[in-house]
Amino acid sequence: MPVRQWDPASKAKVVLEGLQGKPETAICKRHNIKPAEYRSWRKQFLAKIARSFASPRRPSTERSPVLPSLARAGDESSEALRVAQELIEVLPIPVFFKARDGKHLGANKAWEAYFGVERESFIGKTVNELFSHAPEVAAKHQAADEDLWRNPGTRSYELQVPVHDGSIHHTLNYKATFTGPDGKVAGLIGTIIDITERKRAEQRQAIEHRVTRLLSESETVAGAMPGVLAAFCESLGWACGTRWSMDAKAGGFRCEEAWSIDDPEIAAFLAASHESTYQPGQAGLVRRVLGTGQPVWIVDIAAEESFLRGRQAARAGLRSAFALPIRLGDQVLGALEFFHRDERLPDEWLLKTGVAIGNQVGSFMARKQAERELRQSEERFRSLTALSSDWYWEQDEQFRLSFLSSRFVERTGIDPAPYLGRRRWDQPAPNLTEADWERHRAQLERHEPFFDFEMERASPDADSVWLSVSGEPVFDEGRRFRGYRGVGTDITERKRAQGVLRAAYDELARSNAELQQFAYVASHDLQEPLRMIGSYTQLLEKRYGAKLDQDAREFMDFIVDGATRMKQLIEDLLAYSHVGTRGKELRPVQAQAVLDKVLINLRGAVEQSGATVTHDPLPEVNADDMQLAQLLQNLIGNAIKFRGKDEAPRIHVGVEDAGDEWRFTVADNGIGIEPQYFERIFMVFQRLHTRDEYPGTGIGLAICKKVIDRHDGRIWVESAYGKGSKFYFTLPKIRKEET
Ligand code: ADP
Repeated sequence: MPVRQWDPASKAKVVLEGLQGKPETAICKRHNIKPAEYRSWRKQFLAKIARSFASPRRPSTERSPVLPSLARAGDESSEALRVAQELIEVLPIPVFFKARDGKHLGANKAWEAYFGVERESFIGKTVNELFSHAPEVAAKHQAADEDLWRNPGTRSYELQVPVHDGSIHHTLNYKATFTGPDGKVAGLIGTIIDITERKRAEQRQAIEHRVTRLLSESETVAGAMPGVLAAFCESLGWACGTRWSMDAKAGGFRCEEAWSIDDPEIAAFLAASHESTYQPGQAGLVRRVLGTGQPVWIVDIAAEESFLRGRQAARAGLRSAFALPIRLGDQVLGALEFFHRDERLPDEWLLKTGVAIGNQVGSFMARKQAERELRQSEERFRSLTALSSDWYWEQDEQFRLSFLSSRFVERTGIDPAPYLGRRRWDQPAPNLTEADWERHRAQLERHEPFFDFEMERASPDADSVWLSVSGEPVFDEGRRFRGYRGVGTDITERKRAQGVLRAAYDELARSNAELQQFAYVASHDLQEPLRMIGSYTQLLEKRYGAKLDQDAREFMDFIVDGATRMKQLIEDLLAYSHVGTRGKELRPVQAQAVLDKVLINLRGAVEQSGATVTHDPLPEVNADDMQLAQLLQNLIGNAIKFRGKDEAPRIHVGVEDAGDEWRFTVADNGIGIEPQYFERIFMVFQRLHTRDEYPGTGIGLAICKKVIDRHDGRIWVESAYGKGSKFYFTLPKIRKEET
């Protein structure tokens, strides 16, 4: 590689890169030069510049913009100097020169722009004169210069300086001494690098870091907030800050926490801020932030009329304020508010920093809220499990029992250990067959919920324990199946009670059957001796009637009459017991055909009483046709029998569709029934009249009831006493598959 030839102007350019702040190593690498070489160039360059100041020769008339004293014609080094001057002039960073006496010699355009000062007004002035409004800045520069004069070389230091728009900038000041022809230090060249951005980024990071730590160390929002507000205010020089959030009880936003510098007037202002609640709106400070969700900046509190607390704030010596929302996504949870004692113009960076903190606080509030809700829900769950006699269980994806609450062992006395980690069907349950388990397992594999699944399990201290479990599948956020969870309950007692009940029921059924049998046998067998009583009494009367006196004959009439009645009663009783024992299988029958037959049977009574019987078209029903006939005959027979004195009976057999069943009615215009007897009349031998008034034994409606019971229907009566009665009975409809 050919070695590049360096002319003085190119060398000057390289040195200026270094003066701009570029690191030495980077420059050497870029231009492929050695550090020693670079350093010697820099030394030469600075020495030449210095020499030009120190030269007693006055410059030519041509005026240099950078250094009025620096324009010379002639040799090679003056050419290098000219290039250097031009470069310095157009450099985008502020550069200045200062003589050994501390007076400024010149500066470039960037310097003018940075400070907003004409360079003419600055040449010949010292730092103390230039920074008379900021003595601490002057002192710092002064000290650095003194140090350089004592130990020539380079120095760099950070400093905050006020610039033309009044804002404070962070700067990195870089200074290097140069020597005059006599070899003594003649002055210095300085550059200013603005590091405000970097400083602010560091500052913001430091604040966010502090806030993060405060939030992570605190249990509550209230506990963390004073520290968070202090972190912001202290780092950035603001006087006080507050947090606002929704107070559900007060129904508005309230100032919850505050921090301020130690100042009784500001403390009084903050105390007053705590007193009222506000609604989101379009004016004011906090109200507007809550209403719009956007930050609000007030430069002069005293001039902002819509700011309700403005006067108090101004009285406390506060001047500027800004507030920003505490957000969680789109939701505005509250606001942060800060006050400064001096006038502060809206500052993008400050707002961004505040918004970042607002977001941190927002997530923290949301997290605390979620934690609170979780705690509440866990407490509820704990109470539920503690107070319930049921236990709670969980199963993994493989249906293996992974958790069983302690209530299980308390209730059942069974050691849960052998069940944990196993599937339900890994342990025997005498009540369940292989097929039962298979069905249950298939249900779980389909991830369906299940209810009241009953299992009999071996128990150490009893014969067995009956368990009933219900469960539901659990899915994670990705809808992936994660297992089952559910509850279980000990149903041993219920099972035992059911057993007892079943035994009692069986016993009842058996004794009922016996009774039925007895009633049948008794009524059947009683008929014979009764017939004998009847016929022998009649024989007695026929043969010996003449020999008996009037009383004896009358007594014998009573015997005959009694025997006849008893015969009727026994026959009725027999008919009643036949309903249960001699019933036929239920099958579809045409109710219409049954009614037609009944009306033929009743023709005599109908004609005799002058009754009219009408009816709706009757449907097909599932019934024992003989018993249905018996039922209709009893009801229509009664309607004729219990007719009124003045009117011929009018009887209507109706039917209505009542959903799953047919509702039949038999209505008459007879004597009616008083409501208190509506139920009694359906019992065996219950009648409301003497035999002289209306004949009968009181068994007809009892038979009707028994028939209807057998047909899974209901029977009842409605009546207006003296006007007529309406008997209702229902029969289930024929289901499709039965037809
Ligand atoms: P019985 O007709 O033999 O008296 P039932 O069991 O058929 O016996 O009727 C019981 C009682 O219900 C009757 O004695 C009568 O008082 C009353 N009853 C039944 N049907 C009617 C009706 N259609 N109108 C008025 N009362 C009735």
